[in-house]
Amino acid sequence: MRTYLRGLLMVFTWIAVAGGVVWVAVKWSSAIGGVLCVAAMLIPFAYILVCTLYPSWGDTKCPRCGKPALRRPDSANPVGVVCDACGYEDPELYRAYLNEMR
Ligand SMILES: [Zn+2]
Repeated sequence: MRTYLRGLLMVFTWIAVAGGVVWVAVKWSSAIGGVLCVAAMLIPFAYILVCTLYPSWGDTKCPRCGKPALRRPDSANPVGVVCDACGYEDPELYRAYLNEMR
């Protein structure tokens, strides 16, 4: 349901963005509208490029105490976490890149 509402919000957002670009092109200049259209097409590619090149970041926040103290008890096993702050243990919880955070 929440994902559905988020998707619906994005539909209206993109319709508003497209309408805004058309409004700018009609009101001011079609060159500015063209530049905005090109920007609207390039921004998703720039987003993918930035996400690809940005370094991965592990989430070390503990689900019980909230402190960034999670680590893997066995670095060879990708599943399982231990919190150094409160002693929270979950042998089945998976968090990516925990080994790389230390
Ligand atoms: Zn904790």
